[in-house]
Amino acid sequence: MPTGPSILQVAIATPLRRLFDYHLDALPSSAEFMPSMRVKVSFGRSSAVGMVLGRAGESSCPAGKLKSISVLLDDLPLIPPNLLALLQWASDYYAHPIGEVIFSALPSLLRQGEPAERRGVEHWCLTCLGATQEPDQLTRAPRQAALLSLLAEHPEGLSASAINERQDNWRPSMRKLAEKEWVVREQRPALLLPAPGDRDEVPTLNAEQQAALASLCTGLGHFGVSLLDGVTGSGKTEVYLGLIGEVLARGEQALVLVPEIGLTPQLLDRFRRRFPVPIAVLHSGLSGRERLDAWLMARDGDAAIVIGTRSAVFTPLARPGVIILDEEHDASFKQQDGFRYSARDVAVKRAQLENIPVLLGSATPSLESLHNARLGRYSHLRLCERAGNAQHPEVAVLDVRKQPMSSGLSLALVNAMRRHLDADGQVLLFLNRRGYAPTLLCHDCGWVAKCRRCDAHMTLFAGRKRLRCHHCGSERPADPACPECRGSELCPVGAGTERLEEALQGLFPGIGMVRIDRDTTRRKGALQSLLDSVHDGSARILVGTQMLAKGHHFPEVTLVGMVDVDQGLFSADFRATERMAQLITQVAGRAGRAQRPGQVLIQTHHPDHPLLQLLLREGYAAFAHAALEERRQANLPPFSYLALLRAEAVDGELPLRFLRQARELAEAMHPCGVQLLGPIPAPMERRAGRVRAQLLLQANRRVDLHRLLGPWLQQLETDKLGRKVRWSVDVDPQEMF
Ligand code: ADP
Ligand code: ZN
Ligand code: ZN
Repeated sequence: MPTGPSILQVAIATPLRRLFDYHLDALPSSAEFMPSMRVKVSFGRSSAVGMVLGRAGESSCPAGKLKSISVLLDDLPLIPPNLLALLQWASDYYAHPIGEVIFSALPSLLRQGEPAERRGVEHWCLTCLGATQEPDQLTRAPRQAALLSLLAEHPEGLSASAINERQDNWRPSMRKLAEKEWVVREQRPALLLPAPGDRDEVPTLNAEQQAALASLCTGLGHFGVSLLDGVTGSGKTEVYLGLIGEVLARGEQALVLVPEIGLTPQLLDRFRRRFPVPIAVLHSGLSGRERLDAWLMARDGDAAIVIGTRSAVFTPLARPGVIILDEEHDASFKQQDGFRYSARDVAVKRAQLENIPVLLGSATPSLESLHNARLGRYSHLRLCERAGNAQHPEVAVLDVRKQPMSSGLSLALVNAMRRHLDADGQVLLFLNRRGYAPTLLCHDCGWVAKCRRCDAHMTLFAGRKRLRCHHCGSERPADPACPECRGSELCPVGAGTERLEEALQGLFPGIGMVRIDRDTTRRKGALQSLLDSVHDGSARILVGTQMLAKGHHFPEVTLVGMVDVDQGLFSADFRATERMAQLITQVAGRAGRAQRPGQVLIQTHHPDHPLLQLLLREGYAAFAHAALEERRQANLPPFSYLALLRAEAVDGELPLRFLRQARELAEAMHPCGVQLLGPIPAPMERRAGRVRAQLLLQANRRVDLHRLLGPWLQQLETDKLGRKVRWSVDVDPQEMF
């Protein structure tokens, strides 16, 4: 008998909520096992990569059935103990299987068992010979010419993924250039290259910024949460940069998390022009190799600053000093499928485990964070004035009831646009609906184009030519005639961004215009070139969806028009008004951000809506105060805690049947303090051909909810019906469908 525990407990990426036991025998006895080392094991009929979490003397599995570890993949722990503890916490808190939590937090190459080694990242740059060439001589080879100009704009070189973002299928042309010895390929560390030219000058912080920064600096070195609540353009980013400067001076690393769309070249430039330090960037556009290398740079302490989107909250750090989360209210911090977590809440927990401060910043903080600030759990730092000379914009409501409208625009809004354009301003029109029109209707019989797989209307897009469902993605050509009555008078109802753009081209002929939404920015590099035309002034009217709301700085925009805010006012989702208020405030904040005063006009059929009134008269803070009071009275989050069990299946009977059984199971466990609500059909009952239902759990104390969740889900996992439906649990759900 071997002395010492000879069984390893291994986490494997499966939906099963448990660890798996393996024997040590097959490996050399000298092998040392520490938590977070990866191993290769046989699993079911094939093999899997697993992570060692612990050792045990014996296994509940009969000795004969126990399999051996086949390969040891790491000879050192892969991640620091604090990060492993965070993942274990997240698995408990979000009631998600530990193996899936761990492996979804790792770069894909590590998930596949690749060694945790840096290989460098492919970069391309001009040679001296290449730098003297004129792209003009390549008129016969436009793709080569484009690459040559691109590299000339980036004398420091570009990574393969950066080139990918700008040009499709560039490799054959690059190879031609390399044959001429005009360009050369290099392997470089996965770090943001230092910006050529001068460092940015640090502006003198105003009194509010200084006070916020001073308070944050005293918090370094231990855990604490601060909420930086600063109006749009108040200089929050300057405060982050000041704080990061202090963290770097202490020899520590800063982790900066931004919303998906917030990771713009402008933001990265701001960082690299300020700090001459290695910066690792983690986002979804990276290749597997780039991601792994950047992750290792962070883990080994070679990257001083790590900037990334949601999943970067799990990046290992050698010397963590601070976590900063910008636009903390942003919905993209919540993962909506698979391992459903909130990067904001995970960041707070991580800061606690690492004993470092965490800073949440926003012009429109979530009601949860404001509530925590009010309870004194978070320190509340406010920036009420715009930085520099910029003034708050003037906001007014346009009551469009009974007004003649064309393509969603009132005469008053069109006139205001004219005034601002005549005065050389830029105009931004916001409409949170892409496509041409949200519905196609038969004027003869009332038929409406519906999705065949969802309970939803199809959106008309591509200039009335096609129909698409925004819920399942299915597409078809728009019907030439009504399928019910053969009538030919099919009319688009309502307006999306495409139709708005079309109307504006008629109203303002000859004026440069860009439309920014998911359809116009799908192509690589498209968003950047659209933004460029706004910045260089060739576009004077911008039309767009909420993609425009986030973080962009358009100094010449003097008028912001919100074409339709009514959708947000009357929704079944209790968070809808909060989101609407955030969106209105953020979009309004795009106006008048520099020297020129701004104006905001909001079109609505409900000018007297109380929350809208409050928001416009007294601002977001007053709105949030009232909205929190409503939540308290309705006992909704943050005054209670929710978890949602969802189920879906092609067979329409099963989801409700499964959830009823789940409810009975929960009741049999006598959960104290937890209310079970439902099951009910989901608000959109059929989606992508599956029928969906949900069961809501509500508790006044979080512990009560969690005491039930763990054991209950363990049991559900073995439920026979549970294997026939697709089910998932969402703790602190953001969307109630
Ligand atoms: P926020 O992140 O709150 O939207 P930023 O930090 O991006 O605001 O600042 C908005 C603009 O004001 C930027 O152009 C920034 O350079 C400028 N700015 C910020 N702080 C100051 C300051 N103290 N003095 C002058 N300009 C400032
Ligand atoms: Zn018809
Ligand atoms: Zn659909």
